[in-house]
Amino acid sequence: MAKHNDLISAIGNTPMIRLNRTSTLTGCEIWGKAEFLNPGQSVKDRAALFIIHDAVQSGRLKPGGTIVEGTAGNTGIGLTLVANSLGFKSVIVIPDTQSQEKKDALRLYGAELIEVPAKPYKHPNNYIKVSQRLAEKLDAELPEGAIWANQFDNIANRRAHAETTGPEIWQQTSGRIDGFICAVGTGGTLAGVAEALRARSDDIKIGLADPEGAALYNYYAHGELKSAGDSITEGIGQGRITANLEGLTIDNPYQISDAEALPYIFDLLEHEGLCLGGSSAINIAGAVRMARDLGPGKTIVTILCDYGNRYASKIFNPQFLRGRNLPVPKWMEGRTPIDI
Ligand code: PMP
Repeated sequence: MAKHNDLISAIGNTPMIRLNRTSTLTGCEIWGKAEFLNPGQSVKDRAALFIIHDAVQSGRLKPGGTIVEGTAGNTGIGLTLVANSLGFKSVIVIPDTQSQEKKDALRLYGAELIEVPAKPYKHPNNYIKVSQRLAEKLDAELPEGAIWANQFDNIANRRAHAETTGPEIWQQTSGRIDGFICAVGTGGTLAGVAEALRARSDDIKIGLADPEGAALYNYYAHGELKSAGDSITEGIGQGRITANLEGLTIDNPYQISDAEALPYIFDLLEHEGLCLGGSSAINIAGAVRMARDLGPGKTIVTILCDYGNRYASKIFNPQFLRGRNLPVPKWMEGRTPIDI
Protein backbone atom coordinates (compact mmCIF):
# COMPACT_ATOMS: atom_id res chain seq x y z
CA MET A 1 0.00 0.00 0.00
CA ALA A 2 1.30 3.45 -0.90
CA LYS A 3 2.05 5.93 1.88
CA HIS A 4 2.11 9.66 1.04
CA ASN A 5 3.52 12.61 2.93
CA ASP A 6 1.02 15.01 1.37
CA LEU A 7 -2.00 15.13 -0.92
CA ILE A 8 -0.15 16.02 -4.09
CA SER A 9 2.06 12.94 -3.82
CA ALA A 10 -1.14 10.90 -4.08
CA ILE A 11 -1.82 12.25 -7.62
CA GLY A 12 -1.30 9.65 -10.35
CA ASN A 13 -0.37 5.96 -10.14
CA THR A 14 -4.03 5.11 -10.67
CA PRO A 15 -5.14 1.51 -11.22
CA MET A 16 -6.45 0.15 -14.50
CA ILE A 17 -9.82 -1.61 -14.52
CA ARG A 18 -10.86 -4.21 -17.10
CA LEU A 19 -14.15 -3.27 -18.72
CA ASN A 20 -15.57 -6.77 -18.74
CA ARG A 21 -18.72 -6.48 -20.80
CA THR A 22 -17.18 -4.36 -23.57
CA SER A 23 -14.21 -6.77 -23.64
CA THR A 24 -16.60 -9.71 -24.12
CA LEU A 25 -18.62 -7.76 -26.69
CA THR A 26 -15.58 -7.04 -28.86
CA GLY A 27 -13.33 -10.04 -28.19
CA CYS A 28 -10.62 -7.58 -27.17
CA GLU A 29 -9.13 -6.61 -23.82
CA ILE A 30 -10.54 -3.16 -23.05
CA TRP A 31 -9.05 -1.48 -19.99
CA GLY A 32 -9.86 1.86 -18.37
CA LYS A 33 -7.29 3.95 -16.50
CA ALA A 34 -9.18 4.91 -13.34
CA GLU A 35 -8.39 8.64 -13.25
CA PHE A 36 -11.47 9.28 -11.10
CA LEU A 37 -9.41 7.85 -8.23
CA ASN A 38 -7.09 10.87 -8.18
CA PRO A 39 -7.49 13.12 -5.08
CA GLY A 40 -9.54 15.69 -7.06
CA GLN A 41 -11.44 12.79 -8.66
CA SER A 42 -10.41 13.46 -12.25
CA VAL A 43 -7.65 13.10 -14.83
CA LYS A 44 -6.98 16.84 -14.55
CA ASP A 45 -5.14 16.62 -11.21
CA ARG A 46 -2.04 15.55 -13.13
CA ALA A 47 -2.04 18.62 -15.40
CA ALA A 48 -2.82 20.90 -12.43
CA LEU A 49 0.20 19.60 -10.51
CA PHE A 50 2.60 19.93 -13.46
CA ILE A 51 1.33 23.41 -14.38
CA ILE A 52 1.80 24.66 -10.80
CA HIS A 53 5.22 23.01 -10.38
CA ASP A 54 6.34 24.52 -13.70
CA ALA A 55 5.17 28.01 -12.66
CA VAL A 56 6.98 27.72 -9.30
CA GLN A 57 10.18 26.41 -10.88
CA SER A 58 10.24 29.17 -13.50
CA GLY A 59 9.77 31.77 -10.75
CA ARG A 60 6.45 33.06 -12.17
CA LEU A 61 4.40 31.80 -9.22
CA LYS A 62 5.59 33.34 -5.95
CA PRO A 63 4.77 32.25 -2.37
CA GLY A 64 1.16 33.16 -1.57
CA GLY A 65 0.45 33.86 -5.24
CA THR A 66 -2.84 33.30 -7.05
CA ILE A 67 -3.55 30.84 -9.87
CA VAL A 68 -6.24 31.93 -12.31
CA GLU A 69 -7.80 29.56 -14.83
CA GLY A 70 -10.74 29.14 -17.17
CA THR A 71 -12.04 25.59 -16.88
CA ALA A 72 -15.00 23.30 -17.40
CA GLY A 73 -14.46 22.44 -13.73
CA ASN A 74 -12.09 19.51 -13.29
CA THR A 75 -8.88 21.46 -13.93
CA GLY A 76 -10.15 24.08 -11.49
CA ILE A 77 -10.76 21.42 -8.85
CA GLY A 78 -7.25 19.99 -9.36
CA LEU A 79 -5.64 23.44 -9.31
CA THR A 80 -7.54 24.43 -6.15
CA LEU A 81 -6.53 21.30 -4.22
CA VAL A 82 -2.89 21.60 -5.28
CA ALA A 83 -2.97 25.36 -4.52
CA ASN A 84 -4.38 24.72 -1.03
CA SER A 85 -1.74 22.12 -0.38
CA LEU A 86 1.14 24.44 -1.44
CA GLY A 87 -0.11 27.74 0.03
CA PHE A 88 -1.47 29.40 -3.12
CA LYS A 89 -4.94 30.82 -3.89
CA SER A 90 -7.16 30.00 -6.85
CA VAL A 91 -9.60 32.00 -8.93
CA ILE A 92 -11.64 29.89 -11.32
CA VAL A 93 -13.70 31.11 -14.29
CA ILE A 94 -16.33 28.59 -15.44
CA PRO A 95 -19.02 28.73 -18.16
CA ASP A 96 -22.48 28.72 -16.55
CA THR A 97 -23.48 25.65 -18.59
CA GLN A 98 -21.25 23.30 -16.57
CA SER A 99 -22.73 20.99 -13.95
CA GLN A 100 -23.86 22.35 -10.59
CA GLU A 101 -21.96 19.51 -8.88
CA LYS A 102 -18.61 20.77 -10.21
CA LYS A 103 -19.41 24.38 -9.26
CA ASP A 104 -20.39 23.27 -5.74
CA ALA A 105 -17.15 21.29 -5.39
CA LEU A 106 -15.08 24.30 -6.46
CA ARG A 107 -16.76 26.56 -3.90
CA LEU A 108 -16.45 23.90 -1.20
CA TYR A 109 -12.71 23.51 -1.83
CA GLY A 110 -12.21 27.28 -1.49
CA ALA A 111 -11.79 28.57 -5.04
CA GLU A 112 -13.10 32.01 -5.82
CA LEU A 113 -15.59 30.99 -8.50
CA ILE A 114 -16.66 33.29 -11.31
CA GLU A 115 -19.47 32.02 -13.52
CA VAL A 116 -19.71 33.56 -16.98
CA PRO A 117 -22.24 33.07 -19.78
CA ALA A 118 -21.01 30.39 -22.23
CA LYS A 119 -19.60 32.03 -25.41
CA PRO A 120 -17.71 30.58 -28.38
CA TYR A 121 -13.89 30.64 -28.27
CA LYS A 122 -13.75 33.53 -30.78
CA HIS A 123 -15.85 35.77 -28.52
CA PRO A 124 -13.86 38.20 -26.32
CA ASN A 125 -15.92 37.13 -23.30
CA ASN A 126 -15.29 33.40 -23.74
CA TYR A 127 -14.36 31.98 -20.32
CA ILE A 128 -10.75 31.30 -21.35
CA LYS A 129 -10.22 34.91 -22.48
CA VAL A 130 -11.94 36.27 -19.35
CA SER A 131 -9.58 34.20 -17.20
CA GLN A 132 -6.52 35.47 -19.09
CA ARG A 133 -7.53 39.12 -18.64
CA LEU A 134 -8.36 38.52 -14.98
CA ALA A 135 -4.93 36.94 -14.36
CA GLU A 136 -3.21 39.99 -15.84
CA LYS A 137 -5.33 42.35 -13.72
CA LEU A 138 -4.78 40.40 -10.50
CA ASP A 139 -1.05 40.10 -11.18
CA ALA A 140 -0.85 43.90 -11.30
CA GLU A 141 -3.04 44.39 -8.21
CA LEU A 142 -2.01 41.65 -5.76
CA PRO A 143 1.25 41.99 -3.82
CA GLU A 144 2.05 38.25 -4.26
CA GLY A 145 1.06 38.34 -7.95
CA ALA A 146 -1.05 36.01 -10.06
CA ILE A 147 -0.47 33.63 -12.97
CA TRP A 148 -2.71 32.30 -15.72
CA ALA A 149 -2.54 28.48 -15.80
CA ASN A 150 -3.45 28.41 -19.53
CA GLN A 151 -4.08 24.65 -19.64
CA PHE A 152 -4.92 24.62 -23.36
CA ASP A 153 -1.61 26.04 -24.57
CA ASN A 154 0.66 25.34 -21.60
CA ILE A 155 2.56 22.20 -22.53
CA ALA A 156 3.34 21.39 -18.90
CA ASN A 157 -0.12 19.80 -19.23
CA ARG A 158 0.95 17.45 -22.02
CA ARG A 159 4.21 16.72 -20.16
CA ALA A 160 2.22 15.50 -17.13
CA HIS A 161 0.79 12.70 -19.28
CA ALA A 162 4.00 12.03 -21.22
CA GLU A 163 5.89 11.62 -17.92
CA THR A 164 3.24 9.92 -15.77
CA THR A 165 0.03 8.59 -17.38
CA GLY A 166 1.68 7.15 -20.50
CA PRO A 167 4.57 5.37 -18.70
CA GLU A 168 2.10 4.02 -16.11
CA ILE A 169 -0.06 2.51 -18.89
CA TRP A 170 3.02 0.96 -20.50
CA GLN A 171 4.04 -0.58 -17.18
CA GLN A 172 0.53 -1.76 -16.28
CA THR A 173 0.13 -3.53 -19.62
CA SER A 174 3.74 -4.86 -19.54
CA GLY A 175 4.07 -3.26 -22.97
CA ARG A 176 1.34 -5.50 -24.38
CA ILE A 177 -0.90 -2.74 -25.69
CA ASP A 178 -2.19 -2.35 -29.24
CA GLY A 179 -4.23 0.83 -29.00
CA PHE A 180 -4.87 3.88 -26.87
CA ILE A 181 -7.85 6.17 -27.40
CA CYS A 182 -9.49 9.11 -25.65
CA ALA A 183 -11.34 12.36 -26.23
CA VAL A 184 -9.77 15.82 -26.26
CA GLY A 185 -10.42 18.87 -24.12
CA THR A 186 -7.00 20.51 -24.08
CA GLY A 187 -5.38 17.50 -25.75
CA GLY A 188 -2.87 17.08 -22.91
CA THR A 189 -3.97 13.53 -22.10
CA LEU A 190 -4.16 12.21 -25.66
CA ALA A 191 -0.99 13.87 -26.96
CA GLY A 192 1.04 13.18 -23.81
CA VAL A 193 0.07 9.49 -23.56
CA ALA A 194 0.60 9.07 -27.34
CA GLU A 195 4.08 10.59 -27.04
CA ALA A 196 5.06 8.22 -24.20
CA LEU A 197 3.65 5.08 -25.85
CA ARG A 198 5.07 5.80 -29.32
CA ALA A 199 8.49 6.40 -27.76
CA ARG A 200 8.30 2.79 -26.49
CA SER A 201 6.76 1.02 -29.52
CA ASP A 202 6.18 1.71 -33.22
CA ASP A 203 3.13 -0.55 -33.35
CA ILE A 204 0.70 1.22 -31.04
CA LYS A 205 -2.32 2.79 -32.71
CA ILE A 206 -3.56 6.10 -31.34
CA GLY A 207 -7.28 6.82 -31.59
CA LEU A 208 -9.34 9.97 -31.15
CA ALA A 209 -12.88 9.74 -29.73
CA ASP A 210 -14.44 13.06 -30.65
CA PRO A 211 -17.90 14.14 -29.44
CA GLU A 212 -20.33 15.78 -31.84
CA GLY A 213 -19.87 19.55 -31.96
CA ALA A 214 -16.07 19.22 -31.87
CA ALA A 215 -13.87 19.88 -34.91
CA LEU A 216 -11.02 17.44 -34.43
CA TYR A 217 -12.55 14.34 -36.02
CA ASN A 218 -12.88 16.23 -39.30
CA TYR A 219 -9.37 17.61 -38.91
CA TYR A 220 -7.67 14.25 -38.35
CA ALA A 221 -9.89 12.34 -40.81
CA HIS A 222 -10.23 14.94 -43.60
CA GLY A 223 -7.73 17.74 -42.85
CA GLU A 224 -10.38 20.34 -42.08
CA LEU A 225 -11.36 21.89 -38.74
CA LYS A 226 -15.12 21.60 -39.14
CA SER A 227 -17.83 20.83 -36.62
CA ALA A 228 -21.54 20.02 -36.53
CA GLY A 229 -23.98 18.86 -33.89
CA ASP A 230 -23.83 19.02 -30.15
CA SER A 231 -23.02 17.03 -26.99
CA ILE A 232 -24.05 17.05 -23.33
CA THR A 233 -20.56 15.91 -22.31
CA GLU A 234 -18.39 18.38 -20.40
CA GLY A 235 -14.65 19.03 -20.51
CA ILE A 236 -14.16 17.68 -24.04
CA GLY A 237 -14.87 18.89 -27.58
CA GLN A 238 -12.17 21.09 -29.10
CA GLY A 239 -12.43 23.42 -32.09
CA ARG A 240 -8.76 24.24 -32.67
CA ILE A 241 -5.24 22.76 -32.57
CA THR A 242 -4.05 23.75 -29.11
CA ALA A 243 -0.32 23.89 -28.33
CA ASN A 244 -0.78 20.60 -26.46
CA LEU A 245 -2.06 18.96 -29.68
CA GLU A 246 0.68 20.30 -31.97
CA GLY A 247 2.56 17.54 -33.78
CA LEU A 248 0.11 14.81 -32.77
CA THR A 249 -0.92 12.34 -35.47
CA ILE A 250 -3.98 10.08 -35.18
CA ASP A 251 -4.26 6.58 -36.63
CA ASN A 252 -7.93 5.96 -35.82
CA PRO A 253 -10.24 8.99 -35.61
CA TYR A 254 -13.90 8.46 -34.62
CA GLN A 255 -16.84 10.78 -34.15
CA ILE A 256 -19.13 9.56 -31.37
CA SER A 257 -22.65 10.78 -30.64
CA ASP A 258 -24.05 11.01 -27.10
CA ALA A 259 -26.72 8.46 -28.07
CA GLU A 260 -24.00 5.97 -29.01
CA ALA A 261 -21.82 6.69 -25.95
CA LEU A 262 -24.15 7.00 -22.95
CA PRO A 263 -25.49 3.41 -22.98
CA TYR A 264 -21.94 2.21 -22.19
CA ILE A 265 -21.78 4.07 -18.87
CA PHE A 266 -25.37 3.14 -17.97
CA ASP A 267 -24.49 -0.50 -18.60
CA LEU A 268 -21.25 -0.21 -16.62
CA LEU A 269 -23.08 1.19 -13.61
CA GLU A 270 -25.82 -1.44 -13.77
CA HIS A 271 -23.59 -4.46 -14.32
CA GLU A 272 -20.08 -3.57 -13.16
CA GLY A 273 -20.73 -0.93 -10.47
CA LEU A 274 -18.74 1.82 -12.16
CA CYS A 275 -20.37 5.27 -12.18
CA LEU A 276 -18.65 7.44 -14.78
CA GLY A 277 -19.06 10.84 -16.42
CA GLY A 278 -19.91 11.67 -20.04
CA SER A 279 -16.38 11.99 -21.38
CA SER A 280 -15.67 8.44 -20.17
CA ALA A 281 -18.73 7.35 -22.17
CA ILE A 282 -17.27 8.87 -25.34
CA ASN A 283 -13.91 7.24 -24.55
CA ILE A 284 -15.40 3.76 -24.03
CA ALA A 285 -17.53 4.01 -27.18
CA GLY A 286 -14.33 5.02 -29.02
CA ALA A 287 -12.48 2.02 -27.56
CA VAL A 288 -15.26 -0.29 -28.81
CA ARG A 289 -15.06 1.21 -32.33
CA MET A 290 -11.28 0.87 -32.29
CA ALA A 291 -11.53 -2.74 -31.05
CA ARG A 292 -13.80 -3.54 -33.99
CA ASP A 293 -11.32 -1.96 -36.43
CA LEU A 294 -8.18 -3.55 -34.95
CA GLY A 295 -9.83 -6.98 -34.66
CA PRO A 296 -10.23 -9.51 -31.83
CA GLY A 297 -7.46 -10.34 -29.39
CA LYS A 298 -6.09 -6.80 -29.15
CA THR A 299 -5.55 -4.78 -25.96
CA ILE A 300 -6.96 -1.27 -25.94
CA VAL A 301 -6.66 1.26 -23.12
CA THR A 302 -8.79 4.33 -22.55
CA ILE A 303 -9.30 6.90 -19.81
CA LEU A 304 -12.03 6.87 -17.17
CA CYS A 305 -11.86 10.63 -16.61
CA ASP A 306 -14.20 11.34 -13.70
CA TYR A 307 -17.14 10.04 -11.63
CA GLY A 308 -20.73 10.17 -12.83
CA ASN A 309 -21.66 11.76 -9.48
CA ARG A 310 -20.27 15.00 -10.94
CA TYR A 311 -23.19 14.90 -13.44
CA ALA A 312 -25.96 13.37 -11.31
CA SER A 313 -28.33 16.23 -12.18
CA LYS A 314 -27.75 15.78 -15.93
CA ILE A 315 -26.55 12.45 -17.28
CA PHE A 316 -28.22 10.43 -14.50
CA ASN A 317 -31.45 12.42 -14.56
CA PRO A 318 -34.13 10.84 -16.82
CA GLN A 319 -35.95 14.16 -17.26
CA PHE A 320 -32.78 15.85 -18.50
CA LEU A 321 -32.06 12.98 -20.90
CA ARG A 322 -35.62 12.90 -22.26
CA GLY A 323 -35.48 16.68 -22.82
CA ARG A 324 -32.58 16.05 -25.19
CA ASN A 325 -34.04 12.96 -26.88
CA LEU A 326 -31.35 10.75 -25.36
CA PRO A 327 -31.87 7.12 -24.35
CA VAL A 328 -33.00 6.50 -20.76
CA PRO A 329 -32.08 3.05 -19.41
CA LYS A 330 -34.93 0.99 -17.93
CA TRP A 331 -33.45 0.98 -14.43
CA MET A 332 -33.39 4.78 -14.40
CA GLU A 333 -37.08 5.09 -15.29
CA GLY A 334 -39.25 5.88 -12.31
CA ARG A 335 -36.36 7.21 -10.22
CA THR A 336 -36.87 10.58 -8.59
CA PRO A 337 -34.68 13.05 -10.46
CA ILE A 338 -32.18 14.91 -8.33
CA ASP A 339 -33.52 18.40 -7.87
CA ILE A 340 -31.04 21.23 -7.75
N1 PMP B 1 -12.88 14.51 -19.43
C1 PMP B 1 -13.18 15.43 -18.53
C2 PMP B 1 -14.34 15.19 -17.62
C3 PMP B 1 -12.44 16.62 -18.43
O1 PMP B 1 -12.75 17.55 -17.52
C4 PMP B 1 -11.37 16.81 -19.34
C5 PMP B 1 -10.54 18.07 -19.28
N2 PMP B 1 -11.15 19.24 -19.69
C6 PMP B 1 -11.10 15.83 -20.29
C7 PMP B 1 -11.86 14.69 -20.31
C8 PMP B 1 -10.07 16.03 -21.37
O2 PMP B 1 -8.74 15.98 -20.98
P1 PMP B 1 -7.64 16.84 -21.70
O3 PMP B 1 -7.82 18.28 -21.29
O4 PMP B 1 -6.35 16.28 -21.20
O5 PMP B 1 -7.78 16.71 -23.18
